[in-house]
Amino acid sequence: MLDPETKDAITRAVTDGFDTQIAFTKDLMRFASIRGHEHGVQEFVFDALLQRGYATERLEMERAAIENHVGGGKFSVDHSDAPIVIGTFDPLETLGKSLILQSHTDVVPTGPAEMWRFDPFDPQIDGDWLYGRGGADMKAGHAAMIFAMDALKDAGLRPTARVEIQSVVEEESTGNGALMTFLDGHTADAVLIPEPEDEMLVRANVGTLWFEVELRGTPVHVREMGEGANAIDAAYRVIASLRELEARWNEDRHKRLYFRDLAHPINLNVGKIEGGDWGSSVPAWCRIQCRIAIFPGIRAQDAASEIENHIAEFAKTDGYLADTPPKITFNGFFAEGYVQEPGSEAEAALERAHHAATGVPLESFTTLGYLDCRVYRLYNDIPSLCYGPISENIHGYDERVSVSSLRRITIAMALFIADWCGTTRI
Ligand code: ZN
Repeated sequence: MLDPETKDAITRAVTDGFDTQIAFTKDLMRFASIRGHEHGVQEFVFDALLQRGYATERLEMERAAIENHVGGGKFSVDHSDAPIVIGTFDPLETLGKSLILQSHTDVVPTGPAEMWRFDPFDPQIDGDWLYGRGGADMKAGHAAMIFAMDALKDAGLRPTARVEIQSVVEEESTGNGALMTFLDGHTADAVLIPEPEDEMLVRANVGTLWFEVELRGTPVHVREMGEGANAIDAAYRVIASLRELEARWNEDRHKRLYFRDLAHPINLNVGKIEGGDWGSSVPAWCRIQCRIAIFPGIRAQDAASEIENHIAEFAKTDGYLADTPPKITFNGFFAEGYVQEPGSEAEAALERAHHAATGVPLESFTTLGYLDCRVYRLYNDIPSLCYGPISENIHGYDERVSVSSLRRITIAMALFIADWCGTTRI
């Protein structure tokens, strides 16, 4: 537990460094680091960690090792080959508990840029909001973890346990960046990931699977349409059938403590559809890209088999698909969900830090998207704290993060690091 003077010194240091932190956050946001294009921002982070005196390394994705792991996301041609960047602080003497701070630098596509108030990769502040793609999710948190550590130093303090800063990619598509750090042997006594969670702690989180359904049609001239088979129409029938699977999976929520109060925790998204060649031929092909969630405790492989069986059974009932069954390919996330049960010492330390920084108790909640915390919770088997700033519109237009919230959670993170790892005077 921290004494009042240490708390004050850390809080002051975060506040004094906050303008520089915002400038650094904007620097990160100017990289249009969508999937496969994270090399530049990762090098920028590497340099920032090197300059600060961390032992820095780049870690490559090892496809075979990832594919052999039960939680490995499936590779496709779109998989990033950008390195993971890690900076490690090692104390002179270990007295406290070690910590991983982790953030991802990959961001999701912007959609039509003209729908944005500002250029999505030219960050702008208006009032309390910092706008831009990937600012909230999660370059603001990324900068916060680096500046929380800077604040300790500026306050004349040095952690008395190992702290590892991990900057990963592939969080938005496979989770393989986080998994690679585990496969390479990186671990600690706890992890903190500052995703935009509205200043709350994630208690439970769904798993996620990505899959493609490919359909073949029978192309004919439209004048003989009745003799052909339309692959795009067939895709609509498959989607309708998948909605039934989604509804069935949602019924299970009543049996699950952290999900029973949610109306629709399992979401199926048809995220992309492509097919056909032009307007006057019955389309010969169609592909849909899907994402579906699963409850914690359900293995990705079991869910995948259920999806395959469901589509196969549906195809048998369909006049055309019975002879031309859809092809299913898992091509991204293959991730289980997780629950961070209450009662860990790490959570108690975060509660103290959050209360000191915000004046209110730490609340916890259930989230319905993928989180890298699952790697650390399920495979490292360590307390995995997902906690970060207030945001709006992540993955949408005008994504934005609250600047005042960002200041609060940076203070909370710095206090948490000091509490968990212990400190000594420089
Ligand atoms: Zn994120």
